[in-house]
Amino acid sequence: MLCVVKVGIVTSPIIRIGRGERLRNKLGLFSMFLDLDANATYSCSEELQGVMAAALSTLGNPSALHRGGQRARAAVEEGRSAIRELLGAGPHDQIIFTSGATEANNTISASAAAVEGPLVSSAIEHPCILGPLHALKQAGREVRLVAPNQLGEVTVEGVEKLLSSDVAFVSIMAANNETGVVNDIALLAQRVRERAPKALIHTDASQCVGKMKLNFAELGVDAMTISGHKFGALAGIGALVVRAGVPLRSLLLGGSQESKLRGGTENVLGIISIAAAAKEVLKTLPQRVDRMRDLRDTFESEVLRGVQGVAINGAAGQRIPNTSSVSCEGIRGDDLVVALDLEGILVSSGAACSSGKPEPSHVLLAMGQPEDRVRSTIRVSFRADQTRADVDRVVDTIVRAVTRMRSYQGGERAA
Ligand code: PLP
Repeated sequence: MLCVVKVGIVTSPIIRIGRGERLRNKLGLFSMFLDLDANATYSCSEELQGVMAAALSTLGNPSALHRGGQRARAAVEEGRSAIRELLGAGPHDQIIFTSGATEANNTISASAAAVEGPLVSSAIEHPCILGPLHALKQAGREVRLVAPNQLGEVTVEGVEKLLSSDVAFVSIMAANNETGVVNDIALLAQRVRERAPKALIHTDASQCVGKMKLNFAELGVDAMTISGHKFGALAGIGALVVRAGVPLRSLLLGGSQESKLRGGTENVLGIISIAAAAKEVLKTLPQRVDRMRDLRDTFESEVLRGVQGVAINGAAGQRIPNTSSVSCEGIRGDDLVVALDLEGILVSSGAACSSGKPEPSHVLLAMGQPEDRVRSTIRVSFRADQTRADVDRVVDTIVRAVTRMRSYQGGERAA
């Protein structure tokens, strides 16, 4: 009883998130939380937790010759097949397991840098693409970044302006993590092939898996990045999908795993989790998409109705169905995140990886939004197992929080 009071009421809800599912369920606390930060981590369903719990006792080193090793090897190869099937990769395309999208993006950037020529990307990429490109620029390489249009799209025309026949690398994300805006990667790849035939074409599709149909062969790119914890697997597992014959450079030396392209003992449990998540997505994608779109669209129309001075960033573009980037005039996004957290609702201000940093979102700034609007933004990202009641709860809480904050400012606006 004492424990219920201590854990449930006094400590920060954020701290409680890390505690065991079972403990929270036992204490009846889980229902208090509404996790609307799926783009940061789409946590494992109970079914997947069961799959992983069962796998824990059977793991060995996939490089070992004995039966424990063989069983682990079989799990790794089954994982590769599941990713291949989910993403429509061909039998000769490589699926290289990594620790996540950051490593996959760093690997492809390092591989591209081995070839001479300018490197092309967009100003709204995740920092794990922009960071390596920045380092290459510091080392003297030419890096060309295209800005998005006002809708948040990286347009084919915009990229074309940066192309020349000597370009070595083009990397454009398939969907943005903050706004959810989707780019036309298939068309872009076609144009790049015409104008910059030697370029290695890559897309970071981390935010697309489980939220839209994604087919590696149809996109026509050379390489694609995915991240397990963005679609229900554990954090710490991801993959780089690479077209057969594309030369790659390993970041980790000294191990022959993953065809010598990623040294180190494979994360077998992570691979089992990403395989299970991939199978779940493959089975349920249309229903997931419909459900998320319904929740997101209802949320946006109710928030627009309930709060004055609200704008949805990127709403006029094509978006993945679960993401809403909401700016509330006169309110600090960080303050709203904390206000919602105190009521058990988890959202982020911009990208999870950058919250906690004082800098405003580079994505919204690149879209041409003024800094005060950028700073007034939160990102709400839904899961497919949420409900209309969850939408009502978050809208109601936002309306109350914004009204309260504006009243502190002495503003006249109600909400
Ligand atoms: N790329 C995008 C578009 C992301 O949204 C993220 C995470 O937010 C990453 C890369 C990094 O993913 P990971 O945590 O798997 O390294």
